[in-house]
Amino acid sequence: MIIQRVVLNSRPGKNGVPVAENFRLEQSTIADTVQAGQVRVKTLYLSVDPYMRCRMNEDTGSDYLQPWQLSEVADGGGVGVVEESKHENLTKGDFVTSFTWPWQTVAILDGSVLQKLVPQLVNGRLSYFLGAAGITGLTALLGVREKGHVAVGANQTMVVSGAAGACGSLAGQIGRLEGCSRVVGIAGTDEKCSILVQEMGFDAAINYKKGNVAEQLRELCPGGVDVYFDNVGGDISDTVISQMNQNSHIILCGQISQYNKDVPYPPPLPPDIEKIQKERNITRERFLVLNYMDKHEASVLQLCQWIQEGKLKVRETMVEGLANIGAAFQSMMSGGNIGKQIVSVSK
Ligand code: NAP
Repeated sequence: MIIQRVVLNSRPGKNGVPVAENFRLEQSTIADTVQAGQVRVKTLYLSVDPYMRCRMNEDTGSDYLQPWQLSEVADGGGVGVVEESKHENLTKGDFVTSFTWPWQTVAILDGSVLQKLVPQLVNGRLSYFLGAAGITGLTALLGVREKGHVAVGANQTMVVSGAAGACGSLAGQIGRLEGCSRVVGIAGTDEKCSILVQEMGFDAAINYKKGNVAEQLRELCPGGVDVYFDNVGGDISDTVISQMNQNSHIILCGQISQYNKDVPYPPPLPPDIEKIQKERNITRERFLVLNYMDKHEASVLQLCQWIQEGKLKVRETMVEGLANIGAAFQSMMSGGNIGKQIVSVSK
C-alpha cells in the first residue's frame, strides 16, 4: 500500500533554529497484510511539541529521548482509527493513541503499543487526547500538584511563563482550580494576553516583548510570587525569580528559550539569581511528567471532567495536512501557536 510519510531531512545543529526544511514529505509503502498482533491504523492527528527539538540533535541530552535518524520517519504523540486488526483487544473503528506514532498517513503498528480511547470523555474532540486530556494536560496538572505546593485558602499568587502555550494555558487555569487566588501569565503577543484574561480567567497577562517585564510584574503581583510555573527559562525566569517570596516554589516544567542552545538541562541559573533562590529557600526541582505514570489514569479523568464541566478552557492551533508538519513545528517554536499545536492528517 502506498502512503505518505515525513522524515528528518537535516539537523538544525545544536545551536541552530529549526526550520520546516529540516523535514521532508515522501511517498513510501507498507505491507498489504497485517500480521498476528498487529493493526493497520489511519492517522487522524499528530502532536507537535517543543521536546522534539532535542530529538533533532544527534544526541538528545536525555536518557528518555531517542534522537530521530536522518531520512527515517519521525514520530511522536498521535491519534488514529483502526482500519484492520489482528490484535485481540482492538477492532476496526476503535480510536487509539500512542506516544510513538509514526508521522505517516497509514501505518501498521503492534497493537500492544496502542491505548484505546473513549471519545465521549472529551465530547468527541479526539485531538484533546494529545493536549488537554493527554500528556500536556497531565504535565500541567501533575506539575502543579507535585511541585507547586498550592493550598486552598493560602492566598497564593501564581505566575506562568509560556502562558498561552499548550501547558501554560492549562497550568494557570489549574492553579486557580487548585486554590491560587491570583494568576498572572507571561506571553509573546497582545492577542495571547487578551485570550488569557478574557477566555481563560487569568487575572492579568504581560506581553514580554513589550515594555518592562519586571515593572509590570511588580505592579501585577504586589504581594510577590508564591508559585512560578516555568516553561521558558532564560531572562523571563530570572525576572520572575527575583520577585519570588521566601519559601516559594518553581515548577520547572521546561526551558524553551534554551532549546536552540547547547546547554545542559536544566540550565544553571546566573549566579545572582541562584543566590536569591538559595537565600529565599525557593524550591526548583526537576519535574518530568513521565515520572508519575501511576497517577496518569486518574489525572486524565480529572482533566476530562473539568473539560466537560467547562472549567478548563481549551485552545488548539490546528494545521491541516501532513505536508505542513515541519512548518507547524517551526511556527510553534517561534510563538505562532495559541494552545496546543496539532496537525490534522486525514483530510
Ligand atoms: P508551547 O508552550 O505550546 O509552545 C511553545 C511556546 O513557547 C511558543 O508558543 C512561544 O510562545 C514560547 N516561546 C518560544 N520561544 C520562546 C523564548 N525564547 N522565550 C519565551 N517563550 C518562548 O509548548 P508546550 O508543549 O506547552 O511546552 C511548554 C514547555 O513545557 C516546554 O518547555 C516543554 O519542553 C515543556 N514540557 C515539559 C514536560 C515535562 O514533563 N516536564 C512535558 C511537556 C512539555 P510566546 O509567544 O509566548 O513566546
